[in-house]
Amino acid sequence: MARKGIAVYPGSFDPITNGHIDIVQRALRVFDHVIVAIATNRAKDGSLFTVAERVAMIGEVFKGLGSRVKVDSFDDLLVNYTAKVGANVIIRGLRAVSDFEYEFQMATMNRGLKPDVETFFMMTGESYFYISSHLVKEVVSLGGDVSGLVPKSVLRRLQKKIKSS
Ligand code: ADP
Repeated sequence: MARKGIAVYPGSFDPITNGHIDIVQRALRVFDHVIVAIATNRAKDGSLFTVAERVAMIGEVFKGLGSRVKVDSFDDLLVNYTAKVGANVIIRGLRAVSDFEYEFQMATMNRGLKPDVETFFMMTGESYFYISSHLVKEVVSLGGDVSGLVPKSVLRRLQKKIKSS
């Protein structure tokens, strides 16, 4: 398949999981460049990791891919940020049907705000259906093993963070 252009993959990534990584890898089969963009307007929300920590973790995960994957953060409207970086595609990952309603609302709103930006949904691999950053944090905080759900570098940071909090 011929690859084309830049796509923005927005989210909280608090922290990045193997499910997110699966979506980035799938997106790289279609697009030349993927910008993993951390939405910082949701940072007041009680995120576990700071934006700088999340940028560092995502950078570590994709360092082998050179300029094909960039990490950034944004606090303006997603569609404006997308246009600003020269992209016209937003990638979102779909797990179960439960993601659909929220994603449908967001995509419809974004299309209304900027019709020339397309939302592109990618279905996750079946091993990642049940992974969410939220669940990973909860399981780690209760002493459970999430080693198959996040990269090793993220696991180390998670354990350290939860011990110190
Ligand atoms: P948000 O707060 O925007 O939902 P997340 O970091 O939780 O941010 O997720 C970012 C995107 O990645 C969303 O499109 C979400 O549906 C998707 N995603 C999260 N976990 C997975 C997974 N395990 N498999 C596929 N997509 C996922």
